Amino acid sequence: MFAINFDPAVCQACNTCDCLMKCQYMTFDLKEAKREKTRINKGEDSRVLKECATCYACEEYCPNGNHPFYVIVERQEEKGLLPAPAPITKQQIRMMQPKGTLTPGRVTAPVIDMCYFPMLTGSIRAPLYENPSIIEGSDVFCNIMWLHFARNSVIRERLPRVIDNIWQCYLKDSGVEELICFHDECYAAFSHLAPAFNIDVPFKPRHVFEYISDRLDVLKDRISPLNAKVAYQRPCSNRLIPETDHWLDAIFTKIGAERVDREYDRETALCCGQVLRAHQREDLADDIQKRNLDDMKAAGAVFCAFNCPVCMLTLGEAAAEKGLFPIHVSDLCQEALKG
Ligand code: SF4
Ligand code: SF4
Repeated sequence: MFAINFDPAVCQACNTCDCLMKCQYMTFDLKEAKREKTRINKGEDSRVLKECATCYACEEYCPNGNHPFYVIVERQEEKGLLPAPAPITKQQIRMMQPKGTLTPGRVTAPVIDMCYFPMLTGSIRAPLYENPSIIEGSDVFCNIMWLHFARNSVIRERLPRVIDNIWQCYLKDSGVEELICFHDECYAAFSHLAPAFNIDVPFKPRHVFEYISDRLDVLKDRISPLNAKVAYQRPCSNRLIPETDHWLDAIFTKIGAERVDREYDRETALCCGQVLRAHQREDLADDIQKRNLDDMKAAGAVFCAFNCPVCMLTLGEAAAEKGLFPIHVSDLCQEALKG
C-alpha cells in the first residue's frame, strides 16, 4: 500500500548518479556512487544508509524524479537503521500523534495551514494576509518530518488521515478548494511526497510564497523598498519543491530586497543543524552552522530570512549574535508594507 514511485532500471541507465555525487555530507567517486546506489536499490547494506544527514537534497539533485531520498528512508526503516536514537524517535512519534480533537467548521478563502507549528500565527496579519481562516494542530500535521527518523511507515499511516481531515472537516463543505501552506513541509507533503507515495490529495495546495507574491502585486502602491541585503536560509523541505524558489526571488524583487549571492544558498544550501543535533551529530551540526553563518556575513547580509520555524528557532539567535537580523519572510514583507 502506498508504494513509492521508483524504478531501479532508471538508476541503472543513469550515467551521472547526481543523487550521491552532489551530496554535501558524503563524498564518492562516480564508480563508488553507482555501486552504493545499486546496493541501496537492491536492499543491500550501504554506507549511505548510516551516514545520510537526511537533508532531502538528493530529491532535488536526481534529474529523473526517481525519489532517491524516499528510497533511502525506506531502506533505513526496513533495516532498523535509525538516524536518531530509538527512544527519542519513539517518544516523538507518540507525542506528535493525531489527538482526534478536531472540530469541523466552516472556513473562507484564503485558508492558511499552520500545521503543528502555530508559533508564527502572529505573522498572519493584514495587510499581507486578507481575512484569512487559519487551521492548525496535531490533526492537520503533515507528518513529513518522520523522513528524518527513518519512518516512512508513520507518514503512510498518518498523511492520508490528515489529508482527509483537512478536506472533510474544513474545505469540502466550505466550498474552498485551495489550501495555502505556510510551511514548505506541508506544501511538499501534499504536492511532492503524496504523489510519490500514490496518496490522493482532493484539494489544491498552494505555497505561501505564491500567495505573498500575488498579494504584493495587489499592494504594490503601499510598498516602501527595503533596499537591504538578505541571506536566505533555505529549508530542507524546499529540496522537495525547488519549483517554488522562483517565487521567493520574485518576492525579494517586489520588496526591494537583494537575496545575497552566497555559497550555501539554492542548490548548495546547508541544513540549519537541528536535525543533525537530533541525530546526535553535534560536531557536524556545529561545523555547518558556523560555515553557513560565516557565509551569510561574508556576503554582506543584514537580514537572515527564514521560512521554516525550526530553522528560525535553531539559527535565529546565533544569526543575531553575528549581527544579522533574523526574520521570517512574511514579516520581512510586512516591513516593506509599513511605510
Ligand atoms: S536516483 Fe536519480 S540521480 Fe540517482 S542514480 Fe537514480 S536516476 Fe540517477
Ligand atoms: S538526503 Fe542529503 S545527506 Fe542523505 S544522501 Fe541525500 S543528499 Fe546526501
